[in-house]
Amino acid sequence: MSAIQKNVEQTSKSYSASFTQGHLALPPAKKYLVLTCMDARIDPARAFGIELGDAHVIRNAGASAVDALRSIVISEQLLGTNEIILVKHTGCGMLTFKNEDAYGVVGKNLGQNEKADSKGLASASYHTTVVVVKEGDREEKKVREERGLTCDNNNQNREEALAELKAKKLDFLPFPELEKAVEDDVAFLKGSKLVPESVTISGWVYEVESGETRRVV
Ligand SMILES: [Zn+2]
Repeated sequence: MSAIQKNVEQTSKSYSASFTQGHLALPPAKKYLVLTCMDARIDPARAFGIELGDAHVIRNAGASAVDALRSIVISEQLLGTNEIILVKHTGCGMLTFKNEDAYGVVGKNLGQNEKADSKGLASASYHTTVVVVKEGDREEKKVREERGLTCDNNNQNREEALAELKAKKLDFLPFPELEKAVEDDVAFLKGSKLVPESVTISGWVYEVESGETRRVV
């Protein structure tokens, strides 16, 4: 068992021992959803004042409304939420690369063997891109094992990984400007026919440096 798994197991024991909120209903009590980034420095419950059972919290790389649309529609249409709080943040990794950079790093790393891979990850200059790559890396490894391919043929692996990326037309959805990205995502949600006009939508920026959340739109 990994140290992370042990931590889950141990925490579960103490958490469940004093847990008293098993009565909560499935739909969020305060009928809203928060969309924010998966960044490890954001604690949505504490930073945005969310009590257990109050709201849906949807997280992905960059707090992308495009990426989160499936969950947003489920939250609103099936589980009754009617307000969206969208929160991007300073220092977001999505500000640091472009799609072509991500494609390059993914292709490079997926073509390497385990040893070279961990070395490459540690020394890669695209720090945040590498986080994305690590996630994709796990998925791609699974695919490779299923196909019975070895890591010996780096070029073939790399080509296949890139071909799969292109076939999926995977857009990593990076953005060059923080406030504009918040505005664009709010506009995307307001313009989507899947989000009714009755849904209240606001866009915010969380500052990882100060812990402050300020409204943009
Ligand atoms: Zn982020």
